[in-house]
Amino acid sequence: MSTRRRIGGALAATGLALLAVTTPVANARTGDPARGLYSVEGASTAEKRTEVARAGVDVAGSRGGALTVVATPAQAASLRANGFGLKPLGDFDSMLKQRSDRAGTAAVAGDFPPGDEAYHTYAETTAELRKAAKDHGDIATLSSVGKSYEGRELNLLKISDNAGTDETEPEVLFTCNQHAREHLTTEMCLRIVQRFTSGYASDPALKKLVDEHEIFVLPNVNPDGSEYDIAGGEYQGWRKTRKPVPGSGAIGTDPNRNWDYKWSCCGGSSDDPSAADYHGPSAFSEPETKAVAEFVDSRVVGGAQQIKTHIDFHTFSELVLWPYGYTQAETDTGLSAEEAKRFADVGKKMAATNGYTPEQSSDLYVTDGDVNDWAWGKHKILSYTFEMYPKDGGIDGFYPPASVIPEQTARNDKAVDILITEAGAPAPTASPSSKSADGRT
Ligand SMILES: [Zn+2]
Repeated sequence: MSTRRRIGGALAATGLALLAVTTPVANARTGDPARGLYSVEGASTAEKRTEVARAGVDVAGSRGGALTVVATPAQAASLRANGFGLKPLGDFDSMLKQRSDRAGTAAVAGDFPPGDEAYHTYAETTAELRKAAKDHGDIATLSSVGKSYEGRELNLLKISDNAGTDETEPEVLFTCNQHAREHLTTEMCLRIVQRFTSGYASDPALKKLVDEHEIFVLPNVNPDGSEYDIAGGEYQGWRKTRKPVPGSGAIGTDPNRNWDYKWSCCGGSSDDPSAADYHGPSAFSEPETKAVAEFVDSRVVGGAQQIKTHIDFHTFSELVLWPYGYTQAETDTGLSAEEAKRFADVGKKMAATNGYTPEQSSDLYVTDGDVNDWAWGKHKILSYTFEMYPKDGGIDGFYPPASVIPEQTARNDKAVDILITEAGAPAPTASPSSKSADGRT
């Protein structure tokens, strides 16, 4: 039960005074209604968590039975009316401003807020990729899978021996920054680039992984969103793309609900253009998801998808997640018991190295139209989501200090190596009995 509810009518006058003092300010830049940051208690099952997500709130993190969410006053009232306990953590926009002003010095236009400059802007990320390709031209080539809505290149770095040649080696894909504000993920992709390019000459284990695979790294799936999130030197808490939604005043689609597999099928995304998990007007309505998907489609060579394994990095909650997200069933169309077991086995093996919690995506809450379901459902790619550091948090969950970057990206080195190695492993073949058991293959 909330404090406010316990106060009740007897202290209504005091309550009003408190409200007057803490009246949230609307987002100064967008004029959108004030948003509160809450810990939603009592969401101890996937059904309960899915119910919270379906309220249209912005779910940022999960720990045990609690979800960290950003909610409008109406959404918060609706959740309370449905029996959830909401612990207010603060006015979200005020917290963003305080977080941005932490260092107490003036922001530099186009860079991260003071104190967080070690995070790479889109321009800095692009410069790092160019440098890697220039310094290690034999094993790294830079290209682009297409352009964002605002015209930014969706940079793709390929790392392999003879990088300029398409060899018949198992391929691996790492994608980062689908969600705009999840800046630690871009650092994760840059860590992978840096580690394999600079370590190639001196580390035989890294050299072997590079020589025997083709590693693709895409650090900014949503560069418009991430640039918007830091524009003006103040964090915006932005999650979505930046393309206006036709016929509405809203801007942006949740790219990770926009993929064309079971898109909008199952209540795991929102129809409301203003919602944080809006799935877009149609599958692949966003140029960013469409471009990445077309790149993955293009890796079908001689009828066989060359990309075997994939991690899409997010923050936060410290989780390793695998398909399907759209259903709570462990097996469904195109996912046999043997295949589900492989997802779980490899997921747990990776989680054992980084201390994350491994689970099927829908064990958290139901999502539809996410990249993992598409990558597996369409291409049989062993595709995971990593929800990175921290395990739990309020505003620092969204925006961990730059000081954590080295440790929290290196933390995934072993998992990355496992994922790459797994690309060369034979895929399990469904036994005849399992095919007949559910009528699917
Ligand atoms: Zn995310």
